[in-house]
Amino acid sequence: MSIVPDELDARGLSALGQWLRNELRLGIRHYAIGRVTQAATWAEVAPLREPSASGRERARAAPHGLTPMLISDEAGLPPLCDRELDEAEAREALAQLDERHVRGCTRCPLHASRTQTVFGVGCARPEIVFVGEGPGAEEDAQGLPFVGRAGQLLTRMIAAMTLTRERVYICNIVKCRPPGNRTPTADEAQTCWPYLARQLAILRPRVIVALGRPAAQQLLQTSAPIGQLRGEFQEFPPPGLQHLGLPPARVMPTFHPAYLLRSPGEKAKAWEDLKQVMQFLGIPIPGRR
Ligand code: SF4
Repeated sequence: MSIVPDELDARGLSALGQWLRNELRLGIRHYAIGRVTQAATWAEVAPLREPSASGRERARAAPHGLTPMLISDEAGLPPLCDRELDEAEAREALAQLDERHVRGCTRCPLHASRTQTVFGVGCARPEIVFVGEGPGAEEDAQGLPFVGRAGQLLTRMIAAMTLTRERVYICNIVKCRPPGNRTPTADEAQTCWPYLARQLAILRPRVIVALGRPAAQQLLQTSAPIGQLRGEFQEFPPPGLQHLGLPPARVMPTFHPAYLLRSPGEKAKAWEDLKQVMQFLGIPIPGRR
């Protein structure tokens, strides 16, 4: 948490707004909290986020001289894991992140319509992590990622790679089901990002397979379409996330299984992408000598 002076002149407000926007560009979101009477302060920071009702309450209760305050989105979360864990330690770290932080999370509006959070499943020290966009109806009901029709196709894709779900890790960029299975907004993905960042820091995969546009765009901090991104390895973390100190990996963007169910003609392209992953990891490709 950082505190800025109670009185800021126009130049100070402008500098604060610029700093907040730079931080946002780097993937660090802050909440601005101040007394509601400080209209100028709100005007300057409003493009980032309207303070929540609870934020206003906290600001009103704050002692004089402590407003406005900037509270990072990461407040209350454990630091990113900065060392290699063995499988038992990694499993425990994931369980703690889920139980202590994700299950009760109300950081974004998606919490209101979920049945339960969907954290992730699989091997705690995998070579590959598959990242989708968000839980659907089946996933929301069962609390597990990729268990509906798209999940069954993902399981077949993993089997085609001569792997099993138990040997990889599967999760999403948002842990709560977007209503009506809509695509999560960039704001929701960004708000949930600290959890995925912590998962990846614990899991330390060699390859992250980004399933579909929202996952690829979030992981690579880009707005490029999936048709342009898929099929080419990219380094992770991308420049916009390098300040976090996340362990390096390679990202392979490919089509989401739900899209492949709607467009089966694209399956061959997705298989080409997965074969590149196998080749990189030294996994023999069936039928190839
Ligand atoms: Fe929290 Fe993520 Fe669920 Fe939003 S989607 S409420 S940030 S766990």
